[in-house]
Amino acid sequence: MKIALIAHDRMKEEIVQLAMAYENILSQHDLFATGTTGSRIMAATSLQLTRFLSGPLGGDQQIGAMIARNEMDLIIFLRDPLTSQPHEPDIIALIRLCDVHKIPVATNLGSAEIMLKALARGELDWREVVHKENEA
Ligand code: PGA
Repeated sequence: MKIALIAHDRMKEEIVQLAMAYENILSQHDLFATGTTGSRIMAATSLQLTRFLSGPLGGDQQIGAMIARNEMDLIIFLRDPLTSQPHEPDIIALIRLCDVHKIPVATNLGSAEIMLKALARGELDWREVVHKENEA
């Protein structure tokens, strides 16, 4: 499965802790991240991620483009709810595309953990079926 990890600056430590706690399960998937989030995770774990641009420079939109092509299966996007972001329109667009394409998206640690536990139990394997249908 293709999984995107994104965290705003005040949430970077949380996403690093999450990646460390779920490193085993995450390592079995194709991982993508915005620039700084990806660097922080790679520095703290042995996970390999494909890094896009930093969020404010277009990284959210790059991940959004993959969602629009149905090439992303799961998004963990730890948003900072207490700080305004210069790229707010990009953030809204990314979450909107998840809703358009019915892609599971977790925007806080609580829902991210539920999602990763479901992933570990194979409960999100239906996404593979969607890929096969798209290829047929
Ligand atoms: P970053 O981007 O990982 O490059 O910090 C995340 C964001 O702010 O959207």
